[in-house]
Amino acid sequence: MLWSGWGDPALARELPSEVRALLRDFLGVRAPDVPAVGLESVRLPPVALPEPLLGALAEVVGSAYVLTSHEARVRHTRGKSTPDLLRMRAGDGSAAPDAVVLPGSHEEVAELLRVCSAERIAVIPFGGGTSVVGGLTASGPGFTGVIALDLGRLDRLLSVDLESLVASFEPGVRAPEAERLLAAQGLTLGHFPQSFEYATLGGFAAARSSGQASAGYGRFDDMVVGLTVATPTGTLDLGRAPKSAAGPDLRQLVLGSEGAFGVITSLRLRVRRAPEERRYEGWRFGTFAEGTVAMRALAQEGPLPTVLRLSDETETMIGLAKPDALGSGGSGCLLIAGYESAGVSSWGSVAARQAGAAAVLTRMGGEPLGAEPGEAWERGRFSAPYLRDSLLAAGATVETLETAGFWANLPRLYDAVRLALAGALGSPLVMCHISHVYETGASLYFTVVVAQEGDPVAQWERAKEAVNAAIVAAGGTISHHHGVGREHREAYAAEVGAVGVSILQAVKGRLDPAGILNPGTLIPPPAT
Ligand SMILES: Cc1cc2nc3c(=O)[nH]c(=O)nc-3n(C[C@H](O)[C@H](O)[C@H](O)COP(=O)(O)OP(=O)(O)OC[C@H]3O[C@@H](n4cnc5c(N)ncnc54)[C@H](O)[C@@H]3O)c2cc1C
Repeated sequence: MLWSGWGDPALARELPSEVRALLRDFLGVRAPDVPAVGLESVRLPPVALPEPLLGALAEVVGSAYVLTSHEARVRHTRGKSTPDLLRMRAGDGSAAPDAVVLPGSHEEVAELLRVCSAERIAVIPFGGGTSVVGGLTASGPGFTGVIALDLGRLDRLLSVDLESLVASFEPGVRAPEAERLLAAQGLTLGHFPQSFEYATLGGFAAARSSGQASAGYGRFDDMVVGLTVATPTGTLDLGRAPKSAAGPDLRQLVLGSEGAFGVITSLRLRVRRAPEERRYEGWRFGTFAEGTVAMRALAQEGPLPTVLRLSDETETMIGLAKPDALGSGGSGCLLIAGYESAGVSSWGSVAARQAGAAAVLTRMGGEPLGAEPGEAWERGRFSAPYLRDSLLAAGATVETLETAGFWANLPRLYDAVRLALAGALGSPLVMCHISHVYETGASLYFTVVVAQEGDPVAQWERAKEAVNAAIVAAGGTISHHHGVGREHREAYAAEVGAVGVSILQAVKGRLDPAGILNPGTLIPPPAT
């Protein structure tokens, strides 16, 4: 993974000339390209942890697995939000951990948490490092130092129960490797977020991720049937049955806890038979409002495709749903539908579902575009993030943000976010799509592009603050799938209210009395 940007550096993408023209003519981006500084030029604070404490950590995991090299620290500094990348590109490594520690077992994680609690060392669980909400930056007074707890060595498929269709994994398995291991047994998870290439199973659970095929396979939190979690006060082992009436479901307390309550050391996941057939197609709607009504009809009446997404007019015009053909979008609003078999008999055959959905989409005013737009989306589904680095270098800020709400409130939420962005940024390019639908509502996912001015981090943070406030005021949730981290902490507190925050603080106080786990993420600290 490129330390200053996204993905495999060999796959870096040039900006198409249409995009350069758009940046110049529409957004006024004229600055010459500015490359990121070299890795060796990133400025890091000195290692704060004294040698005896580094030695104590090495006693738990072995000295080969306590890294303090410049490169290891740079590679574990922050996540992959645009402010994170802008800071890294400029050589600001001020948030670097003092050391990167790689445990090899649940027992080692538990022992590390004991040592770190005793010595007040902050611990940031680190999966794939793809957080876009500031979930990998620890802060708070009085720590001896900070370690990134890299879960990359916990990378095994532990067991597969073919009868129950449950697979047990360690948390550091990356999504492509999980799919590869499952495919060998004819299975799939069906979780394909845009960060698929790098994110880990533990990170998906910790941040309540949702993938592009969520309409068919569900969100990641729907897939988790059991968890083992190491906390400073002991181990939680949760999930004896798919569902239970034995009190509140504590699995739900761990899902979305973003490393603030404990470290997930294994997960038991529902898996599906790998699909034998996949079909993708495109539809055109005249307006976003019409397309939204059609999506609601599919979500409420069925048949629901496995993949279902609708771009608004601007996103369709730019062609963002087909990143490999960027700049060649059309008019109206593009809807992509995908159908997979996945051995679930209630889904019916691919052909029957496709025909049933086509009847609904036609009735709702959709115009069929055939397989090509759907196949183009499928080919380019992981490539859009590579463009961000080229846009940042060219002097444009590009960032994404998301929310969700009930169908009846979706238009208000859509307008509120766009208004807040226009108020904070002047005339940004704002694109939106719906890509996760439920019977009662859906998510809205925005991509924003604006010319960088002055301090681009401060420029974006002003906009983000305005959008967060607008989402809260318009009655949406502050995140449908990116999580809370630090960027959404205050808005999350407003969403759950004072009593909700006090519950989170009480749980944190019980599981992590020294407050070492990912301090500053998720939960506002108690008032002193
Ligand atoms: C280009 C791009 C595209 C993205 N697309 C999507 C998308 O389509 N859908 C989506 O849902 N998200 C998306 N994301 C966000 C991100 O990929 C998800 O939040 C993902 O769940 C993070 O997984 P990770 O392994 O990288 O976790 P990390 O980023 O390493 O960690 C995320 C949080 O979880 C904590 N954590 C990690 N592992 C553990 C563990 N084992 N135990 C306890 N806490 C842990 C960390 O401390 C941190 O707070 C995208 C991000 C990028 C950069």
